[in-house]
Amino acid sequence: MRGSDHDAWPDLGASPPELSRSLLVWWERHGRRDLAQKPWMFTADQRWPQPDELLSPFGIWIAEVMLQQTQLQVVLPYWQGWMQSFPTLQALAAADEQAVLLRWQGLGYYSRARRLHATARLLLAPLDGDPTDPARWPQDLDAWLALPGIGRSTAGGILSSAFNSPLAILDGNVRRVLARLMAHPRPPMRDQALFWRWSEALIAVVPQRSRDLNQALMDLGATLCTPRNPSCGRCPWQHACAAYAAGSPADYPVKEAPRELPFQVIGVGVVLNEAREVLIDQRLNEGLLGGMWEFPGGKQEPGEAIEATIARELMEELAIEVSVDQELICVDHAYSHKKLRFVVHLCRWRSGEPQPLASQQVRWVRPQDLGAYPFPAANARIIAALLEHLGLPAIQAPAVDQP
Ligand code: SF4
Repeated sequence: MRGSDHDAWPDLGASPPELSRSLLVWWERHGRRDLAQKPWMFTADQRWPQPDELLSPFGIWIAEVMLQQTQLQVVLPYWQGWMQSFPTLQALAAADEQAVLLRWQGLGYYSRARRLHATARLLLAPLDGDPTDPARWPQDLDAWLALPGIGRSTAGGILSSAFNSPLAILDGNVRRVLARLMAHPRPPMRDQALFWRWSEALIAVVPQRSRDLNQALMDLGATLCTPRNPSCGRCPWQHACAAYAAGSPADYPVKEAPRELPFQVIGVGVVLNEAREVLIDQRLNEGLLGGMWEFPGGKQEPGEAIEATIARELMEELAIEVSVDQELICVDHAYSHKKLRFVVHLCRWRSGEPQPLASQQVRWVRPQDLGAYPFPAANARIIAALLEHLGLPAIQAPAVDQP
C-alpha cells in the first residue's frame, strides 16, 4: 500500500487487510457468484475463473457500460438480448446504428449505446481480426480510458473482471459502502480522490484477487449495504463500520441539499396525413436521448395556449402547417434533472413538405410500424394511445427508461 493510502485510512478498528479478507470470506458464501445473474463473469465452461484465467472482455465491457446507470436485475435481460443480437465484437462493429439503439431501447442514456457501437469499430482494427482471444485486447488502464464513454471505474471494472488486474472501482455501490464504513461527513462526489484511495487500499492488499474483491464490494453494496434499510446484522464489516457504530447507517452517504427540478410543459403533435401515416423525427445525436425517434413538438412559452405551441413548433422545426385537433393524451415523465409534461394533440397535416430543420431526418410511417423505431420511454403511452384511437392492435412499447 502507498504511504498516502496509510495516511488516508482512518482508525476504524480494522485495517485494509482485515477488511478485504473478511469481505472475501463473506462473498465466497453469500456473493452473487451465480451464472444466472452475472453470465459475463464466467468461463466458457461455466466456471468462476481462477486468478490466472482471462475472461473475454467483450461481454464484460457491454455489461459494465449497461451497469453504469442501471441495476443488475434490470441490466440482465438487456445484456442477454444484446449478446443474442451482437454476440461478437465484429457483429457489433458491423451492426446498423438503428439496430443498436433498438436493442438499447428502455435502458436510457442512449449515448452509451452509440458510444459502444463506435468503440467496437475502434477496437476491432488493433485486435487484428481476432477478438475472441482475450489476451489480444488492451490490458492497460490508459488504453481503455482513451475510448469513448469509458471512465476510470468502468475501465477498472473491465480490467479487473477480465484480466484480474489490480485496479480499483468506484461505482455507486462502492461509494455508498465506503461512505458508511468511514461515516464520511461530506457528499462522496466532493471527495472523490479520497474515496479512490480507500478503494485502492482494499485492492492493494489482495492483488491476486482483485477480480473477486471488486465483485465482493459491489455485491455487499447491492445486497446488504443497500440504499435503504441496510442489513448490518449480516454484514462482515459491522465490527468496523463507523456509520453502524454511530447508529445511523442510513444517514450516509451524506447527500447534497436537494434542488427543485425544473418543470416544463412540452406540446407534442401527432400529425396524420391523408394516407393515415404519422410523422416522426429523429433527434440529433446529442444529449440524453440523442438519435432516438419522437413525435415532434417543443416547449410551451409563458402565456401560450398549448395548441399554439404545437402549431408554432411544427412550423419552426418541420416547416409544416397543421391544424391542431383534440388532445390525445397527457404524459408526465421525470428525468434525473427535470420533469416534463407532454401534452399531446392529434394534428392534421395541411401544407409544407416536412423538413428536418432541428432533427436528423423526418419520416411518415404507418402507425402499426412504430415499433421498428427506437423511441424514448415517455413515448410508449403516446404510441399506445394513438393505436387505440385508430382502432389498431397494440405493439410492443418501449420499456421504462432509467432516470
Ligand atoms: S455495517 Fe451496515 S452500514 Fe456498515 S457497511 Fe455493513 S451494511 Fe453497510
